[in-house]
Amino acid sequence: MSDSSRPTPPSAHVRMPGDGWVNCRCGNKHWGLNGAAGLFLARKNSRGEWSDVVLQHRALWSHQGGTWGIPGGALMDGETAHDAAVREAHEEAGIDKAHVVRLGSHVFSHADWSYTTIIAESTDPHMRVHPTDAESLEIQWVPLTNIVAALNSQHPDLRLLPAFAHAFPSLYAVLKNSTH
Ligand SMILES: [Zn+2]
Repeated sequence: MSDSSRPTPPSAHVRMPGDGWVNCRCGNKHWGLNGAAGLFLARKNSRGEWSDVVLQHRALWSHQGGTWGIPGGALMDGETAHDAAVREAHEEAGIDKAHVVRLGSHVFSHADWSYTTIIAESTDPHMRVHPTDAESLEIQWVPLTNIVAALNSQHPDLRLLPAFAHAFPSLYAVLKNSTH
């Protein structure tokens, strides 16, 4: 990242019903008046082993910008967590839901807010992902081995979003237990 200009939100960012901060009784503020959701999309290598997941390098102006997490965002009014996760993955990373097969879900519940991760497989091993809006510096297939190394402080270039790092072992377990 060589751009030294001060990061600012894009002026075209449209606020949707559901966008906003929640003052949670846990003492923190969380994004998403109806909660938030994200897509943990994995693919297998040619040997049939889980190999990579789609990660988003978060724009510097965003909350905890510069870290890597999964595509996701706030639930719109009346929207399910699954629909929100798939919608955000399409808006942010160009992910086509036709190639997304759900394997499970993981909910991180707070007193006044929750974050639901949809764990899914990409049925297209050659699916190309790329930033499709201003919320990302990069969108990439990242090897699971790199994420594990980052969790063990052995990959200084891959700085994980703290909430994602915290949830990762549970998300990975869903993958490994999947008989799909
Ligand atoms: Zn909270």
